[in-house]
Amino acid sequence: MNVLDSELAATSLIEAGYQPVSAKRYADVILFNTCSVRQHAEDKVYSALGRLKHWKEQKPNAIIAVMGCMAQKDKDTIFRRAPHVDIVLGPGQLRQLPEIVKSVEKKREKRLEISLERTSGKQSDVRKSFQQFNPLRNLRVGNNPYQAMVRIMFGCDKFCTYCIVPSVRGPEQSRPPREIEAEIRQLAEQGCLAVTLIGQTVNSYRYSDGKKTWRLQDLFAMIQEINGIRRIYFVTNYPTGMTDELLQSVRDIPKVTPFLHVPVQSGSNSVLQRMKRHYTAEEYRDLLDRIYATIPGAAITSDFIVGFCGETDEEFQQTVDLVKYGRFKNSFIFKYSVRPGTKAAELFQDDVPDSVKRERNNELLGVQNAISMELNQEFVGKTVNVLVEGISKIAAKSCTSSNLLQIDSPSSQPLVQLTGHTPCDRIVVFDALSEQINQLAGQILPVTITHAAPFTLFGKFSKEKTLDSMPVPS
Ligand code: SAH
Ligand code: SF4
Repeated sequence: MNVLDSELAATSLIEAGYQPVSAKRYADVILFNTCSVRQHAEDKVYSALGRLKHWKEQKPNAIIAVMGCMAQKDKDTIFRRAPHVDIVLGPGQLRQLPEIVKSVEKKREKRLEISLERTSGKQSDVRKSFQQFNPLRNLRVGNNPYQAMVRIMFGCDKFCTYCIVPSVRGPEQSRPPREIEAEIRQLAEQGCLAVTLIGQTVNSYRYSDGKKTWRLQDLFAMIQEINGIRRIYFVTNYPTGMTDELLQSVRDIPKVTPFLHVPVQSGSNSVLQRMKRHYTAEEYRDLLDRIYATIPGAAITSDFIVGFCGETDEEFQQTVDLVKYGRFKNSFIFKYSVRPGTKAAELFQDDVPDSVKRERNNELLGVQNAISMELNQEFVGKTVNVLVEGISKIAAKSCTSSNLLQIDSPSSQPLVQLTGHTPCDRIVVFDALSEQINQLAGQILPVTITHAAPFTLFGKFSKEKTLDSMPVPS
């Protein structure tokens, strides 16, 4: 969500006549897009702001802006903690960014623009104060010209007790299907091959247009018909919304990838209850069984919080058991971070010592990494479809320092390492001739996997296999 917001902010500033620069000494405006999900992310922003104090003294006309969830959460406290900040802008005010930057340049007065608090007025006013911003996109502003995130809904109404998102991103609101379709058609015209539909709980998508109520699977069917789009990803799913109908649509609609991110957070029922997650560990296990039984080659990923208030060793071991059961492609594991303003902060003690959180984090990561490695090893010898993005970042970095370019190709032309993703969202790195880069980037190609690491597959481009003969997806 934040990556998309950053892309939209950059695009709108470029359209207003600004240009990105490579170092802060060239900048007239410095913009921080912030996250409030954990304390650590906020600490990093405050210390980065602290480091800019001297810079701003040297360049008093420069503008520093803090936007995103931390702006919405900390409001004018940001001006108090960092008086050299000029603009504080919530995620629901993104569309005003260029106009506000211009006005601060002219008038030299501070601006605080945020949405209403969720409990501060009529629901319709609160909703309106989280303004939507879906401008025409420029794929070249992002990292990958073949892939784009498309926001299909805003906000969250789940109120998990640990989570700050519902108060900083506002009430859940789904975008009209026609608007989503227009955006994706326009992306396809720019050469986009893969879209990732995003929302805090993307499978809660629901939009009534008078004639029918659209759900996520209806969007899939609509995007399936858009020429040029080859893959549809979607994140993040809330477990109770994984209906049979949705799973069957993932199986049956060819462009939808068999990659499902379904965060469970904990394997212990008592912890899930304290988190107010509305399902049990048994129900989640049933869901995993249903996914694996319905969708061939499904890759599931999850999020976990370790050391949540009152978490005992036993409760943690139940999470370890669930990770073993789940055979997740990978998991994102976080140490619980108390968020002022949430129910957990109000009701429970943050009583698991940091050292225990760290141990649990490492233990769970160890279990997960071993599984990721085992699953990746199953790909060795198989051929997968890779949407080629370009030169591997690791290779690109190494090319300047060491020499990852190998000069042992049959035609004695230099080889480069290209990278891309499989439909199940695995990263693949493979060798290609350097002269082929432009021709291969933006293609979906068969690559035969020769070896595996926990997070990356390595392979060879299988020229002899044409894409049409490939089973989809693998
Ligand atoms: N809407 C998504 C993601 C929300 S934030 C979802 O529900 O899955 C991403 C992840 O951050 C969450 O899944 C959770 O694992 C983690 N997270 C949220 N609040 C946290 C907190 N207070 N401390 C630690 N991790 C947290
Ligand atoms: Fe936060 Fe829960 Fe909403 Fe995800 S579903 S954003 S974890 S409140």
